[in-house]
Amino acid sequence: MTRLVYVAGYGRSGSTILDAYIGRELCSSGGGELWRLFDEYATDGTCSCGKPLPQCPVWGPVTQKALETFGTDVETASAITRSAEFGNSGHAEWSRLWHLVFEEYGSVTGAPTLIDSSKTSGGQRRLSLLRQFSVLGEQMIVVHLVRHPTAVGASLYKGKNSQLAKGIKTGAVRRNFDVGRGAIGWIRANDSAANFRDLGPRYLTMSYESFVKDPHQLVRALQKLGIGASDRPPSAPHVVAGNRALHVHSGKAIRVQSSPAGTLPRLWQPAMRGLEIVGTRKGWFKP
Ligand SMILES: [Zn+2]
Repeated sequence: MTRLVYVAGYGRSGSTILDAYIGRELCSSGGGELWRLFDEYATDGTCSCGKPLPQCPVWGPVTQKALETFGTDVETASAITRSAEFGNSGHAEWSRLWHLVFEEYGSVTGAPTLIDSSKTSGGQRRLSLLRQFSVLGEQMIVVHLVRHPTAVGASLYKGKNSQLAKGIKTGAVRRNFDVGRGAIGWIRANDSAANFRDLGPRYLTMSYESFVKDPHQLVRALQKLGIGASDRPPSAPHVVAGNRALHVHSGKAIRVQSSPAGTLPRLWQPAMRGLEIVGTRKGWFKP
């Protein structure tokens, strides 16, 4: 079976670029925020290969076969995913459904590795469920990605990527509210990612800042765990959902660079400093 690399942590942390980079380096076909697979499929969302998901040569057949074997439609599959991961019910169905997705992914692509950058934000239970039902047995590796709170705060203050793309500006009150909520979310998401420390060597921490400095260090760490030991040529990335900006890079070399996070109002500085102290004490920033 394909091995899964799960990118855990909070959003706005650079997980999409990390997903695409290690995906390419390790001859996997990326993955993206896989929890959104059925949502995106149902609405003809675009894969990073440029095709709508039902026509994507990877996610098209994987989704179709999984749904067929399970005996359901895409709307029901999306509801099963949401109620298990956010509403904490229907776990057995969830486990059977996602087992099928991973199995089909393995037989359609033959790829040794799949990356799921669904993270652990918003109280999402996906990672806990993957472990609880040992959907991937001993095959799962967790990469806990932590971005500095000031950069995350600045990215939240800037507004949502989807709205920025449409030229929609958000008011200052709303943006400050989003930063405050993000600060709590940042603590919660990183705390729940750190719960997987007991996976031992299969739990890796990675700060976004050190990933940008030397992106290949993570690839080396994963290779040590036997990931990507394959002589297959790198395939085109098939990233389901995530930062839309990535789609621009489709088919081209992926450049890892620190994106300008924007500026955060000075009044947030003490709070972000506080978060940094919490994160450091908890050992989240370890290289
Ligand atoms: Zn695709």
